Amino acid sequence: MHLRVLSQLAIIATAMACVHITLPTAKELESNDSIISIGMSESPHALAERNLQARCGRGFGRCSNDACCSTAGYCGKTKAHCRSPDCQIDFGHCDAHTTPGGHLTDGIPRPKLGKVPYGPKVIRSCARPGNIALTFDDGPNKYTEDLLRLLDRYNAKVTFFITGNNNAKGPIDTPGMPWASMIERMHRSGHQIASHTWSHQDLNKITPEQRRIQILWNEVALRNILGGFPTYMRPPYSSCAAKSGCLKDMGKLGYHVILYDIDTEDYRHDSPNAIQGSKDIFDKNLARGKSSSKSWLVIAHDVHEQTVYNLTEHMLKKSDMEGYKIVTVGTCLGDPEENWYRIDESSERPILRKDRVISRDGRCGGEVTCLGSKFGSCCSKKNYCGNSLKHCGPGCQPKVGRCQRARRPPTVPDHGSEKRPTRSDAGTVLQPGLCIVGLVLFSATALSIWAH
Ligand SMILES: [Zn+2]
Repeated sequence: MHLRVLSQLAIIATAMACVHITLPTAKELESNDSIISIGMSESPHALAERNLQARCGRGFGRCSNDACCSTAGYCGKTKAHCRSPDCQIDFGHCDAHTTPGGHLTDGIPRPKLGKVPYGPKVIRSCARPGNIALTFDDGPNKYTEDLLRLLDRYNAKVTFFITGNNNAKGPIDTPGMPWASMIERMHRSGHQIASHTWSHQDLNKITPEQRRIQILWNEVALRNILGGFPTYMRPPYSSCAAKSGCLKDMGKLGYHVILYDIDTEDYRHDSPNAIQGSKDIFDKNLARGKSSSKSWLVIAHDVHEQTVYNLTEHMLKKSDMEGYKIVTVGTCLGDPEENWYRIDESSERPILRKDRVISRDGRCGGEVTCLGSKFGSCCSKKNYCGNSLKHCGPGCQPKVGRCQRARRPPTVPDHGSEKRPTRSDAGTVLQPGLCIVGLVLFSATALSIWAH
């Protein structure tokens, strides 16, 4: 256990040295560590103590047979070894190697619409008095469905900062897993969906290209679910500084960088007795002002049991008592909903399109789209839906359907477009081209651990 604790402290210490845009704490590291409960049989430490496993990492090398290298430096294939962001990606396979299918989002235009600033500017607070924006990071997770039920009961609209593939949950767009329908439900219920990167790496410690990949892969997965992807993001560990170039990169990719002004510290209080600590933090902050003049941007994590089954209802009730309205981050900043996402016009998922009606009779044009229609997803020159060259080729109308077009050569490997991960192999698909990218991705974190 000491090795693990030391490793975590090393990551935290390194983060503290690098981050200057926010309070450097271990909050999300801890939150990520506590998401999946690990039985003794799965613990890399327990196994290590019994000396059953090969060593890996700096000074030992790579695991054989595509095994994963745990934070503590032991090879294995359990969730505890392979889950991101802890797994050592330069010394074996990791969950983060499993990537979403479909074409990349890098060809989609990214105009900076609206009045809310984009990166490199950082946003820490809401703009509208009387608003509270509750935000939930690191999910979806096994508790998220219950949180959605609770929020519906209170008719409260919140913001979810989604991580695409962390904590051994597999890619969020994996068929047969519950994550995609949860994310759809979030949108249906009026919540805002924002990005928390693909596999929760520290964005200050990776290269600009790796940062780009962390953003793009999450975009691809969210596009596969919603037909578009967010313009709002929160960096994992709140770690994205001007010095590393991260904030500028987020701006180039067209993102608002969102932090917070109330940290509930729910990651530190995830037990029935301790959660009062988070309630106290929330209440004390609210006591600092009145709803007539104040607003708040609050961070919590839907991956914690006490957050979902205890803290959130307290925050909802207390906010109401004090005269606040619970709204999304976009709303509390005064940004209209059409600016929260970028639509992928080629996507067949019409979930985010509020301005389009899906064709029910095979006709298309105007506000009626073929995307999602049983007649086919391309709208022909003569306003008919279909999938043939006549519909998708010359004359095809891209605003109301899919059209055949020359594919841009991908700037990162076009992984997984042929082979989608299935439920059973979601955690173990290894694609060599990506491996190289992924390997580099984790190297900074791994090196920082071993350097301490
Ligand atoms: Zn996080």
